[in-house]
Amino acid sequence: MITQTSSLLLETRDILHKWLSLATSAIMIFFCFVNIVMLNQVTIGVIDSVFGLLNLYSFRKALLEKTHEWHHYMLAFSMTVVVLSSFYFADLRAGSIYWLLILPPLYCLLAGPKLGLFYTIILSLPALAILFIKSDTEDFLPYRSILNFVLAYFLSYGICYLYESQYAKSSLLLERMAFQDPLTGAQNRHALKLFFDNFNNVPVDPFLKYETEETRLLIIDIDYFKSVNDEFGHDVGDSVLLEMTELLHYLIHDEHVYRIGGEEFLITLKNHTQNQAYDFAEKIRKEVEKTVFRAHQQSIRITVSIGIAQLQKGQSFREFLRDADKNLYSAKNKGRNLVHYGPMNVSEAV
Ligand code: GH3
Ligand code: MG
Ligand code: MG
Repeated sequence: MITQTSSLLLETRDILHKWLSLATSAIMIFFCFVNIVMLNQVTIGVIDSVFGLLNLYSFRKALLEKTHEWHHYMLAFSMTVVVLSSFYFADLRAGSIYWLLILPPLYCLLAGPKLGLFYTIILSLPALAILFIKSDTEDFLPYRSILNFVLAYFLSYGICYLYESQYAKSSLLLERMAFQDPLTGAQNRHALKLFFDNFNNVPVDPFLKYETEETRLLIIDIDYFKSVNDEFGHDVGDSVLLEMTELLHYLIHDEHVYRIGGEEFLITLKNHTQNQAYDFAEKIRKEVEKTVFRAHQQSIRITVSIGIAQLQKGQSFREFLRDADKNLYSAKNKGRNLVHYGPMNVSEAV
């Protein structure tokens, strides 16, 4: 099923993380030089250098491998420590306070609007405390300064929050339109192609317990579906397809359901042996056989034929669909309402 956070949004976060790690590490290393060599501010310089190097490491990791959520938190943490410590140790006139204003948008973009708000509020407490302590001089008006800071600080969050939540909604909608079948809500052929490409792009890890090649697919085709349409009408046929999708989702839990043709569905099964995949396909076949589909006051019974295929690296999407179809049509040719497993025949698989 399509997740509530779109992959478009997650990708945007990863890109932001990558380039922000590089930019902030360059800025921190620059300030490390300025603080130690020119201003003799060794404490701030050391903090800058430690977190500057950490961010450089983060950037290198982001270049080489997929970014994880904790990488985002590490970047947000590193920037928080550097900005807060500079604010605390440096003279107020140095202007380190300006850097505090970039933290709320950063939390919002890296952690999401809700968690981001939480971090923004938490951070405002030490920031205000430091500002209050530091502003307590005769030539400064602390309350005016604090008021300006609070307004600008939370407004910077508010602007980012509105933009980010709108972007999250539209990217989710876009993703739904691109990858979801509008009739049944199952994923569509584009989504399957994406799954297939991802499978082919992930390198085989020799230490994995299950090899990625263990991914199996069930291709499920409703038998004589044309006669359902002919007998009950197209609307009823549509409702049966919808109910069928719900039944498949119910049976497979967190695996994926794709509708790849009119009355043809596909299910991905990760880490299933041949026999497990066969047993699972049989379970689906029997469940459909005994289900009474109720659509527009009609009670309809259908059966399905199921072919099982195995994903193999290096295979093109076209080749894979052709092999899957062969399996399915072997099941059809053997009389329908049964499961067929690739080169094995039905009795061998049981
Ligand atoms: P078989 O057992 O060989 O699969 O027979 P079949 O009738 O299921 O297969 P066939 O390929 O001859 O017909 C498929 C039918 O599926 C034809 C079409 O009316 C129906 N169909 C395809 N897409 C839709 C759809 O979106 N809604 C409805 N109601 N019917 C559809
Ligand atoms: Mg059919
Ligand atoms: Mg068909």
